[in-house]
This record gives sequence, structure tokens and C-alpha cells, in this order.
Amino acid sequence: MTLQGKIALVTGASRGIGRAIALALADEGARVAFCHPGDDQAEQVLTELAQRTEACAIRADVSDEAQVIGMYDTACKELGIPDILINNAGILREGPIVDTATEDFDRVIAVNLRGGFLCSREFVRRADAGRIINIASDLGLLGRENMVAYAASKGGVIAMTRSLSRELAPDILVNAIAPGSIETDMTSPDSMSPEQLAKDMDTPLARFGQPEDIAAMAVFLCGTGGNFITGQCFGVNGGSVMT
Ligand code: NAP
Repeated sequence: MTLQGKIALVTGASRGIGRAIALALADEGARVAFCHPGDDQAEQVLTELAQRTEACAIRADVSDEAQVIGMYDTACKELGIPDILINNAGILREGPIVDTATEDFDRVIAVNLRGGFLCSREFVRRADAGRIINIASDLGLLGRENMVAYAASKGGVIAMTRSLSRELAPDILVNAIAPGSIETDMTSPDSMSPEQLAKDMDTPLARFGQPEDIAAMAVFLCGTGGNFITGQCFGVNGGSVMT
């Protein structure tokens, strides 16, 4: 129970990686608030969390400033001021640039990058100290054809992580995790083309990771193991990026 007494806020935790992180933080003793933009699966996650810890689910779109402020108001009222923020909420759009509508580009940036900015700003306004972990992507480092908005947003997340780690030191430590391909709805055949999925397999480990692989790194960074780590981007990626 390495996170006993901590309060965590995880964005976009109604499924996938966010859900796994929320459950892992709860297993380590943290109280957990999570947000979701309006999905039925949130109820199921809240039940799973409540079996482990004090928890609350908050309906909020991370790209909306007023909703982010409202989310923090609710989290603080229900559980207390968060000292861990996991900026996980994200969306993906695939397609060649010539077919990418401006609205689609803007929406990806709004959720993946603006959302992380809004949530981090609200965290800093309220917390004296703590940890921020941004879920980036290996594509933010590698780039990928037909993923211009997504890769750009994740590159921005990595740059934001480095900037905030400098600005908020020494009280708030800020790091990113850049997952490779993880088995979630985002990487299902409904969401990604066979060409993209084949590229995802072209790594030394040649398989998808699991959401729990990302959660384990998040728990490490939130605990004492992360005490001297800030401004880093950790590849949990089966070898897709080597630095
Ligand atoms: P996922 O299964 O599609 O889950 C995304 C989560 O984000 C859902 O809970 C979704 O809520 C929530 N969400 C979407 N838009 C939101 C918004 N505007 N406000 C608040 N929450 C919102 O995706 P995932 O694979 O778990 O991805 C989680 C994060 O990891 C994302 O940032 C993604 O870019 C990153 N990542 C994933 C992979 C991968 O291979 N899966 C690789 C690298 C990085 P609803 O359920 O209501 O839609």
C-alpha cells in the first residue's frame, strides 16, 4: 500500500489504460476520482474502485474549461485536494492529411493536449505538491503516416511535460509515459486500419502490451521510486522506441 493517504484524479478512466491505472492506484491505497465524458461503463469502474477504496466518478469533458473546474470542485469536495493527476483521456483519428477535416484535427488537439493543459493548470492552482503523469504515445516521438493530429498532439504532450517539470519543480514532479501499442478499444480493428495495426506489431516484442503494463509504471512514478524523477518520458512500448 505505497500510496496510502494519497488522492488521485485520473482522466478518461471509464475503460482501457485509464481504468487500469485507476484500479492500480486504488490497490496501492490511494483514494481515486476519475472523469469520463458520459459513458455507461463508468458505473462499472466505480463499482470496481469502491471495492478497493474511496472513489468517485465525475462526468466531465477534459477539453472544456468549465467542466474541468467543476470536476476539480467535485473531486475536492468528495475526496480532498488531489495530489496525483493522471492526464490519460485521449482520442485518435486516422486518415491522410488531405482527408483530415480541420474540425477533426482541432478535436484531437483539444482532448489530448488542451485537456492535459486545463487539468494540469487546475491541479497546480489547488495542490501545493504532488505528481503529474501525462499519457503520451510512442507516436509522439516517432510520428506516423495518416496520424498527423494524433502524433502532433502527443508530441505536444511530451513537450508540455518537460516544460512543466521545469516550471513546477521541486514540489510537483511531472513525467510522461509513452505507451506503444496497448490492447484497448483504441487499437481494436474498429478503431484502426489493418495497415496501422500491422505497423504496431513491427517491434522487438512483436505483440500488444496490456493496460496493466502502463499502470505499473504509473504506480512506480507516483510512489517513492519516483522521488528523484521529473521531466522524463518513459517508453513502455515493447521496444518500438529506443532512446
Ligand atoms: P480508450 O480505450 O479509447 O479509452 C479512452 C478513455 O478516454 C475513455 O475512458 C474515454 O471515455 C475517455 N475520453 C475520451 N474523450 C474524453 C474527453 N473529452 N474527456 C474525458 N475523457 C475522455 O483508449 P486507451 O487506449 O485506454 O488510451 C488511453 C490513453 O493512452 C490515451 O491518451 C491514448 O492516446 C494513450 N495511448 C494509447 C495507446 C494504445 O495503444 N491503446 C498507445 C499510446 C498511447 P469514453 O469511454 O466515454 O469514450
